[in-house]
Amino acid sequence: MVLATQLCYGSSAVLGRAPAGALIQRMVFFLSSPHMCYTDGPDEEGLRYVPRPMHIWPMTQPKSPLNPFVWPQLQAIPGLAHGVFTRHGGVSHPPYATLNEAFGNGDSPDAVAENLKRIASWLDVNLLVTTPQVHGTQVVVVDEAFFNAWPQKTAKGFSLVVGPQADAMVTDCVGVGLLIKIADCQAVFLIDPVRRVVANVHCGWRGSVQNILAQTVHVMQTRFGTHPKDLVATISPSLGPCCAEFRHFRHEIPQDLWRFQVRPTYFDFWSMSRHQLTACGVRMENIHTAQICTVCHRDIYFSYRGEKTKGRMAAVIGLASL
Ligand SMILES: [Zn+2]
Repeated sequence: MVLATQLCYGSSAVLGRAPAGALIQRMVFFLSSPHMCYTDGPDEEGLRYVPRPMHIWPMTQPKSPLNPFVWPQLQAIPGLAHGVFTRHGGVSHPPYATLNEAFGNGDSPDAVAENLKRIASWLDVNLLVTTPQVHGTQVVVVDEAFFNAWPQKTAKGFSLVVGPQADAMVTDCVGVGLLIKIADCQAVFLIDPVRRVVANVHCGWRGSVQNILAQTVHVMQTRFGTHPKDLVATISPSLGPCCAEFRHFRHEIPQDLWRFQVRPTYFDFWSMSRHQLTACGVRMENIHTAQICTVCHRDIYFSYRGEKTKGRMAAVIGLASL
C-alpha cells in the first residue's frame, strides 16, 4: 500500500535498539533522576491510592535531553514506540518552558516545531498526527482517507498532520505517531498487539464522565476487529486522587461515578478509567497506571491545576516496523 510506504519508519523500533553500552549511563541517570515510578497490578480496582515501590525502568536515549515516561510492559511488545514526555528537554521559554507541544497557546510556533522535532526524533518517527482536543468523545480513525483529507505539513525534518476536532485517535498505520497533549488530563494508550492497532485517548474529567474510553474501544472493535481481552492499556502521569478535588461534583460528576470518591470531594480518576476499561472487557492485569500525579510533580510535568500552565506535554504512541 502506498500509504504504508510513505509512513514507514526509517529504521527499526526505537525502543528495541538502545545500545547495550547505555546501561551504565541509564543507571547513573536513574540515580540522579527526580522521577518516581510505581508499578501497578491487577488489584488496583480499589478506591485507595496506594503508592508502590520504585523500580528502574529504561530511561532516555543516550545524548538526548528528553526523558519520557515509558512502560516496560509496552517495551516488551514488538514494533511499538511510545513515551509520555515531560516538560523538560525543549526550547520554549517561560511560561511554556520548555517542551511545550501545543500550538496556538501563545508560544512561538518555531519553538513548538523544534520541540515536536525532538520528540519525533526520540521516537524515531517522521510523522506525528494530532487533533484539536475539545474534551468530547469523538474518535478519529487515522487511515488513508484521513491522510487524504487533512494536509501534511513538513518542517525541521518531520511532518505533522492536524486532523479534525477529536479526543481520541486510532490507527493501524505503521510509522504514525499519535500525539495527545496533556497537562493533568490522562493520556490513555490502547494497544491491540494481535491486530496491530493502537489508540491514544485524551481523557480529562469530562472525558471520563462521558466515557470516551468505551467509545474508543468500541471503534477498535467495530473498525479493526479488536477483542478487548487482547488490549493492553496504560494511564499516563495525570491528576491523581490526592489532588482531584471537585467541590461541585454533584453538578459535574454523575452519581453512578461517586463511588470513586476517595474522601469528601476528592475522586480517583485512575480507578475510574480502570473500571471503564474492564467494563469493556479489558483485563485488569493488562492495565498499567503510571500512578504519578502531575499536580504533585509539576517540577517534572506541566500541571494546569497546579500552576494554570499554558504548556502542554506530549504523549505519543505509534506502530513501528516489525
Ligand atoms: Zn497529587
